[in-house]
Amino acid sequence: MVKQTIQIFARVKPPARKQQSGIYSIDDDENLTPCLEIIIPRDLADGFVNNKRESYKFIFQRIFDQDAKQEIIFENIAKPVAESVLAGYNGTIFAYGQTGSGKTFTITGGAERYSDRGIIPRTLSYIFEQLQKDSSKIYTTHISYLEIYNECGYDLLDPRHEASRLEDLPKVTLLEDTDQNIHLKNLSLHQATNEEEALNLLFLGDTNRMIAETPMNQASTRSHCIFTIHLSSKEPGSATVRHAKLHLVDLAGSERVAKSGVGGQLLTEAKYINLSLHYLEQVIIALSEKNRSHIPYRNSMMTSVLRDSLGGNCMTTMIATLSLEKRNIDESISTCRFAQRVALIKNEAVLNEEIDPRSMIICLQKEIQELKDELALVTGEQRTEALTEAELLQLEKLITSFLEDQDPQSRLEVGADMRKIHHCFHHLKKLLNDKKILRNSTVSSEIKEPDCQEPVREEEYKKLRDLLKQRDNEINILVNMLKKEKKKTQDALHFSSVDRSEIRLVQSSPFPPGNPEGQRTSLLSAPTQSQDCSMLRNRSSLLHKKSGMREEMSLGRQEAFEIFKRDHADSVTIDDNKQILKQRFSEAKALGESINEARSKIGHLKEEITRRHIQQVALEVSENMAFPSTPGQEDRLRSQLEEEKRRYKIMFTRLKALKVEIEHLQLLMDKAKVKLQKEFEAWWAEEATHLQVNSPAVNSLDHAKPSPQSSESQQDQSQLLSSQRLAPETARKPWEPATVLQRQTRTACHLVAASSPAVALARHSTDPASPSVLSARKVSPSPCPSPRSPEQSSTGTWLEGSIPERTTSSVPLTGDSQTDSDILAFLKARQNILQKKCLGSN
Ligand code: ADP
Ligand code: MG
Repeated sequence: MVKQTIQIFARVKPPARKQQSGIYSIDDDENLTPCLEIIIPRDLADGFVNNKRESYKFIFQRIFDQDAKQEIIFENIAKPVAESVLAGYNGTIFAYGQTGSGKTFTITGGAERYSDRGIIPRTLSYIFEQLQKDSSKIYTTHISYLEIYNECGYDLLDPRHEASRLEDLPKVTLLEDTDQNIHLKNLSLHQATNEEEALNLLFLGDTNRMIAETPMNQASTRSHCIFTIHLSSKEPGSATVRHAKLHLVDLAGSERVAKSGVGGQLLTEAKYINLSLHYLEQVIIALSEKNRSHIPYRNSMMTSVLRDSLGGNCMTTMIATLSLEKRNIDESISTCRFAQRVALIKNEAVLNEEIDPRSMIICLQKEIQELKDELALVTGEQRTEALTEAELLQLEKLITSFLEDQDPQSRLEVGADMRKIHHCFHHLKKLLNDKKILRNSTVSSEIKEPDCQEPVREEEYKKLRDLLKQRDNEINILVNMLKKEKKKTQDALHFSSVDRSEIRLVQSSPFPPGNPEGQRTSLLSAPTQSQDCSMLRNRSSLLHKKSGMREEMSLGRQEAFEIFKRDHADSVTIDDNKQILKQRFSEAKALGESINEARSKIGHLKEEITRRHIQQVALEVSENMAFPSTPGQEDRLRSQLEEEKRRYKIMFTRLKALKVEIEHLQLLMDKAKVKLQKEFEAWWAEEATHLQVNSPAVNSLDHAKPSPQSSESQQDQSQLLSSQRLAPETARKPWEPATVLQRQTRTACHLVAASSPAVALARHSTDPASPSVLSARKVSPSPCPSPRSPEQSSTGTWLEGSIPERTTSSVPLTGDSQTDSDILAFLKARQNILQKKCLGSN
């Protein structure tokens, strides 16, 4: 048993912008306990005189300042916990702090760079590396990913759910057994046999979480997330299994309700989050007080799930994340206070060992059989039924291998069955006789004794019959194997054809060609093809299904998407990552080539050494005397061989690391793409709604003249649109790309443009023939898709059907006469083309 208080660490996030210094100081003297001092600035700027205490000091195990890298955080905080989990103890790491203080960054990692990966991916990597090194035990690893939102649990890895909203996912519920152990119903466990599979599960969960949250309901900051690695280990032949769980917890933002300016849905959420964090605090207080018999775990789902982590059988670590800016001082102090209380809690971690019932049954069955045999031997009880053909064959095989075994210690183990023992003697005798006869017949082959002939033939005949039987059996086994192999090949073919169609889907996605999707398949296909196939399938179907991404977007939408993407802040990251990915791919390719070269060099060197040896021996034999070998040359060859082997090893390790990095980057990019797509869908839906609601219908096209509108209606139009700008719902949404807005304000008729990014898109290019202008104009007249079901939006566009009147009846005009006449001319031209097309097709 290991007794330990909960370890507390602090991590200060770098400020978003440059800020005044002196808000905090870190005293991190090697010999002293690290101490964080938060200094309240004495200023009157806030309109009140600061009469409060001037500084607060908090002690932590270690404090990581702004420049601490993810690697350092992992080494110091997570690695020791991972080690104890590998040893069989439960572990928990949880991040606590206000929204934006870096909890997700610390636990999961940043979404941009590989070096920003957080505790979860690094821990997975470390654990799988250790498991690979340790061949003395059999390990199994499972992953679960739970989200708790508004006191309800959701399984982020539920393979069945196609839900687009968190609330539609199946709920995870708590069950308590008679020993007061908590079980989670509806939380799926997924086996992960390597780092890659585990990483895929992490990204699957994160993407599900992202898809389920809507811009109105940014659940990620208001929900708790628990990523759990379940590790079981067993020594071969033993029935005792060790179980250890590692919870990696990203808690909801700890800010107070008053600050969030809440109302409606938000109030409900804030109530729940603050309530569950409040219950967490209550549990912590209860645990930190001596002689408290009742700990109120049951008050909230989170405390129930983390019951063992808090004051139970677990090694627990807390990371207080701090965003130490002036406006966050209150929250930072409250986070540190919470941590100080947490540090008082003592946990007692024990090894979780249990007997595996299945292994136990096998052991017991074996023991029963042995005892039965022994009993039969002792009591002399006779078994009457004859041995079966298979048993006889088995015995004969045993005898053959016993006779062939060179080991003098080897034994003929047939159990305590007298029938078997008798048969063994009988068979041995027969073998011995056969041998004798054979010898006789060869020695005196010329002196043929007529009466000896019959038995020999009889024996020979029997032997041949046995042999035939044996061969028949072998053939049967081989045929079965062949059948199995054939089935496997068919399955593999089936998989790869499914896979190819998936890849086609990926390629037909609205992302530009040239991303290394194709390379991905070739890179992944090497060692674990079937697993990778399923993972790939998972991921690409995830991209399509979960994001609501249409496999076939209408052309107009696709082009609008291209523009949206180009102007989105994340596109820089995606492009950067694409560049890095390309570099990594070429590096991996070059490495692969060098590895092959090194391998063939090693082969050549080995051949050369062997050739020399043979030459040497041949020379010695022919001359009948020993020649001293030329040591210089052989040593040179050997050291070259060693050098090549070393080079090969280094390159191989690098290639392995590259593979993990490439995989991670691909997942990051997939995630970014899903996010982009989701934001586009939301923007598109909103835009379409606005256009339908706010734009007066343009006259039927037959009456539409490619001339400017009357000045009155023009004015109405621009008033309408500009008033739209002032409406609160058109204020910049958090998901709206900043650059689009910037562009809008730069355009000549910015009043109008700022109100409608669609129009901004239309203005994006000044060349009327450019596809972006066409596409952007197609954006405007699109029907109104419901935000919940974006797929409906593409079905009504004019590109897919005949000439829908509806699409041309709600075209917004900009108020700019030149542009408006352009739009109308375009609509007219389009109408003409479509009519021609229809006539042609009729
Ligand atoms: P939380 O999960 O606590 O709400 P996040 O982890 O999402 O906060 O962090 C908010 C933002 O700050 C993110 O953009 C994240 O990338 C960034 N960030 C947080 N911590 C760090 C850090 N230590 N270094 C660099 N960026 C950070
Ligand atoms: Mg977060």
